[in-house]
Amino acid sequence: MTRYDTAIIGTGPAGISAAITAKVRNKNLILFGSKDLSTKMQVAHEILNYPGLPAVSGKDMAAAFTRQLEQLGIEITEEKVTAVYSMGDYFTLQKSNGEYVEASTVILASGVVAGKPYPGEEQFLGRGVSYCATCDAPLYKGKTVAVIGGAPAEEAEADYLGEVCEKVYYFPLYKEEPKFRNAIEVVREKPLEILGGMKAETLKTDGGEYEVACVFILREAQFPGQLVPGLATEGPAVKVNMQMETNIPGLFACGDIAGQPYQYIKAAGQGNVAALSAVNYLAALARKNI
Ligand SMILES: Cc1cc2nc3c(=O)[nH]c(=O)nc-3n(C[C@H](O)[C@H](O)[C@H](O)COP(=O)(O)OP(=O)(O)OC[C@H]3O[C@@H](n4cnc5c(N)ncnc54)[C@H](O)[C@@H]3O)c2cc1C
Repeated sequence: MTRYDTAIIGTGPAGISAAITAKVRNKNLILFGSKDLSTKMQVAHEILNYPGLPAVSGKDMAAAFTRQLEQLGIEITEEKVTAVYSMGDYFTLQKSNGEYVEASTVILASGVVAGKPYPGEEQFLGRGVSYCATCDAPLYKGKTVAVIGGAPAEEAEADYLGEVCEKVYYFPLYKEEPKFRNAIEVVREKPLEILGGMKAETLKTDGGEYEVACVFILREAQFPGQLVPGLATEGPAVKVNMQMETNIPGLFACGDIAGQPYQYIKAAGQGNVAALSAVNYLAALARKNI
């Protein structure tokens, strides 16, 4: 298996900036995210405080970033990372298609996640709560499951569950009407809590209670502590120092995920620092192995 020098998670300004610097420093990188870059960039109307791009719309900024990635030959891998595991001097990243990649360093640039985990979510994680339909669907073959969908992009994963499970309830957290190939019951109720005993058994909403074998929570981005077991956090933010180092050696965080202020230029600046810190870490790792 290829072991990348660095795996960068997120294609907002923080991840793009980290990728550009890592590439300029000749690192073998993989960049996870979306060809649309970032929802936050797509919706911003007029950005007045980004040097070099005066009064630019978010879409035009994304187009400028995309051109720069293309010029440098940096590709975007359109996969969601569902878990990052520290293996000592390298990392294993699980992708939403159930496959794995390895990297010597990881740069988390996955943005900030609004809200809090549902009560019961952390308690039942791995015991009836899952963040990856493709990975865990076979465990729930022929059973009834619930899916909490954070964005229309998650509908494909729910559709796959529709092929495998006896029944799927889908709770969209957005206004658009979900479209499925399989028979999936869309429920416009607000999920409140996951209840159970040894494992999750019930999803409680503001409209009722649903007996399910698993609740799949498919957010656009995961809470950082859930994405990386053992990662030190403070509220919604990953704890970092000025070098964007986290408490896990070789793992760096930048942009909104590293705390306020939530700004493009701050995200891009931190992405640059995170990439340079990863470069220094890789050099130290290489010296250790001489
Ligand atoms: C409407 C609006 C207007 C704004 N206007 C301004 C402004 O004028 N000036 C300003 O400075 N800031 C502005 N902001 C703030 C700015 O958008 C954010 O600070 C900035 O986008 C943060 O960049 P980021 O790279 O940290 O994260 P994001 O832009 O949130 O990007 C995160 C990326 O990570 C990806 N991702 C998340 N989880 C995973 C995963 N598990 N696997 C793979 N990919 C993943 C997401 O798909 C996304 O591509 C505005 C925000 C909004 C919403």
